[in-house]
Amino acid sequence: MKIEILKKRNKHIKLIQMKVLKFGGSSVASSESINKVIKIVKASTFKNDVAVVVSALGGITDVLLEAGSLACKGNENYKESFKIIENRHIEVVRELIPINNQSSVLGTVKKMLNKLENTLEGVFLINELSNKTSDKIVSFGELLSSYIISEALKNNDLDAILKNSQELIVTNSEFSNAAVIFNKTNENIKNFFKTNKSKIVLLPGFVAKTENGEVSTLGRGGSDYTAAIIAAATDASILEIWTDVSGMYTANPKFVRQAFPIQNISYQEAMELSHFGAKVLYPPTIQPILKKEIPICIKNTFEPEAEGTLITKESSNKNPIKGITHIENMALITLEGSGMIGIPGISKRLFEALSLEKISVSLITQASSEHSICFAIDSKDAEKARAAINAEFNYEIQQHKIDPLIVEKDNAIIALVGDNMKSHQGISGKMFSTLGRNNVNIRAIAQGASEKNISAVIAHKDIKKALNVLHAVFFENQTKQLNLFVVGVGNVGGKLLEQIKNQQQYLLDNLKLQVRVIGMTNSKKMLFNEDGIDLENWKKILPEAENLDMDLFHQKVTDLNYRNSIFVDNTANENISKLYAKYLKESVAVVTCNKIACSSNYTNYLNLKQLAREYNAPFLFETNVGAGLPIIDTLKNLIASGDKVTKIQAVLSGSLNFVLNNFNEENSFFNVVEQAGIQGYTEPDPRIDLSGVDVMRKILILARESGTQLELNDIENDSFLPKASLDAKSVPDFLETLKSEANHFNKIYEKAAKNNCRLKFVAEFDNGKSKVGLQEIPSNHPFYNLDGSDNIVLFFTERYPIQPLIIKGAGAGADVTASGLFADIIRIGNN
Ligand code: ADP
Ligand code: ASP
Ligand code: MG
Repeated sequence: MKIEILKKRNKHIKLIQMKVLKFGGSSVASSESINKVIKIVKASTFKNDVAVVVSALGGITDVLLEAGSLACKGNENYKESFKIIENRHIEVVRELIPINNQSSVLGTVKKMLNKLENTLEGVFLINELSNKTSDKIVSFGELLSSYIISEALKNNDLDAILKNSQELIVTNSEFSNAAVIFNKTNENIKNFFKTNKSKIVLLPGFVAKTENGEVSTLGRGGSDYTAAIIAAATDASILEIWTDVSGMYTANPKFVRQAFPIQNISYQEAMELSHFGAKVLYPPTIQPILKKEIPICIKNTFEPEAEGTLITKESSNKNPIKGITHIENMALITLEGSGMIGIPGISKRLFEALSLEKISVSLITQASSEHSICFAIDSKDAEKARAAINAEFNYEIQQHKIDPLIVEKDNAIIALVGDNMKSHQGISGKMFSTLGRNNVNIRAIAQGASEKNISAVIAHKDIKKALNVLHAVFFENQTKQLNLFVVGVGNVGGKLLEQIKNQQQYLLDNLKLQVRVIGMTNSKKMLFNEDGIDLENWKKILPEAENLDMDLFHQKVTDLNYRNSIFVDNTANENISKLYAKYLKESVAVVTCNKIACSSNYTNYLNLKQLAREYNAPFLFETNVGAGLPIIDTLKNLIASGDKVTKIQAVLSGSLNFVLNNFNEENSFFNVVEQAGIQGYTEPDPRIDLSGVDVMRKILILARESGTQLELNDIENDSFLPKASLDAKSVPDFLETLKSEANHFNKIYEKAAKNNCRLKFVAEFDNGKSKVGLQEIPSNHPFYNLDGSDNIVLFFTERYPIQPLIIKGAGAGADVTASGLFADIIRIGNN
């Protein structure tokens, strides 16, 4: 009796000490990474015996499948794929195995490769590829990798043997995704490890055999499962899954840069995350070890010191939401029809038809009217499902009781996962409102009764945005990211970039806004950086970037599909202003100092404002009037709070004001216009300023923002330019006329001076009508003392009938215009 107990205890101790380590494809992709694996295995053997399960070299399974598929189609290119496979393995042997031991290893590898080549040739000749043959072909991936790595371990003086898992794991004949027959499998594993004397047993993952001895596999990603089966059968102390990321993350780190590893998570949560797309763990992996309560640790081969994720029965992590996942390539299928209401058995027939075709359903919703059932399946099964369901409901479809099936591809499922969600209210509300606010359209929703998961079907193109916005709301310190695409980096654009660079830290610390410039263009080049362009060095990098193509620029912004994307137009270019609608329709906000769009025809102006509302994308143009002065914003607030504008009087041209302020007996009109150009106070074409067109545009925008439908042609322009200047065909010709017509200008000046007045170019909007023109302003008028390039606006409203609301200050110049643009950007951030 005593001996029995001792034996049991010894056996127990031995088994408890064993660890199972699994290394995935990326961990064994090259000799360099395999050397890291060897180091990790070696360190583990100091204390424990280990079973090491390996995947095929990274990417090889895909190439094997491709080779099979090409061969089956009779396409000779399968030989190319085979060559890739051959070269990869031979290269790894040459790099890993010391030269004097190489030939025997190479010999065995070549023998295996020959077998693979023969199998592929057979497929090529008969043009047929069953799942069974496909399994035979893919199994070479793990058989080759495990053999090579076992030899590498031995060559590192480690006490290792290779054991083919196909001799241990027994499955049914469901080739390509076989189900394990556990009683036989567990017995085989136990028997083997009972007698094993080596410290390290190396095993291929993924591969198995049927009861008849035919090669089978456990499904894509199945090496995790192999390792779990071995861990459970041997009562291992721990199962370590070594991969290319430092654990199970709050979201797929390849999609969400801010995602971070979850320290601890429960089996149920890990299972839910993996079922809903966290590929880092193959979904069935948890199953065999659940009862045994063996902990799983997910570790990074390339950063072994990182803590990783520990998966245990209970999690110490009390955050109700553990992660956000997604599954790509989903088809949303809807069965509906008036004939479905109240008829029992429809769902049963529907899901039975799918089950007979072995199609698994990831999400189901049924309207409470029972008028429709909607579910999501893998896109690759969509046509099979359509045929099966149409056949099942053929009679009802003929009778028009059920409509033909609606199949929508290019969808994805996105899911929030966590054990404790059930005890927290408002999570789904927050999830859906966040998606809605960011213009992610939700096609279907499901919340499991266990409330471990809330999932939604969205369009494929929205995956990245949806993951990021949800991650920001549920996991991040509520820092809001603003992603800018800046068009035009000259005077104004350059200043804007400088201001952003200087304020980035302040905005992050004080407003929790992270402002990043993701794309920028000048008139020749365009530059992108998904991490944010380095604003210290953009002037050096931009000239080296790719050639400007505004279509490609738009494509890039759309493809990136970042939340809070802002298109910033710093140009005065009409073609750029015509692009706004395209951006707004993609829910990209538009901030612009370019007046052309808002002063184009009224329908276009209105359309842009409507698109902004419809797509929840702000369209801001504060700098269209008065550069950085808060004129439009103030006007908007007046209107929004119920006030009505009765009259506007304004001096709106910083450039004209500069010119008229500096023009006098000593300084000729031509001279001051030239100076204004040099100092950047005029548009590149000074005619736009001097003719009054620029002021017309501005008062037009203010009139429209006040709620009046007005066109540019409706505005009266009493120009002070002589005919010769108005007729000039080019900028130099125009400037020449300012010289030749000096008398005309001097007369205007002298007349005003005689009347003790100053000249101002005034814009007025009164009673629905608008006009602009030169006026002599007497000394008691608020416009009289308007210095330099200042602007002034007087708003007369129902609330300000006598003393107007006055806004006054610098109304031109690159710096203030840039700061006005910046203010619009921040407005979006604070929204
Ligand atoms: P291996 O080859 O090691 O089996 P996989 O490619 O199967 O590795 O799984 C690791 C990958 O899983 C990561 O590189 C990552 O892109 C992806 N992944 C998806 N969701 C998550 C998540 N929530 N946490 C970590 N990785 C994830
Ligand atoms: N090599 C197989 C695959 O790529 C199994 C695995 O890596 O887990 O799916
Ligand atoms: Mg994997």
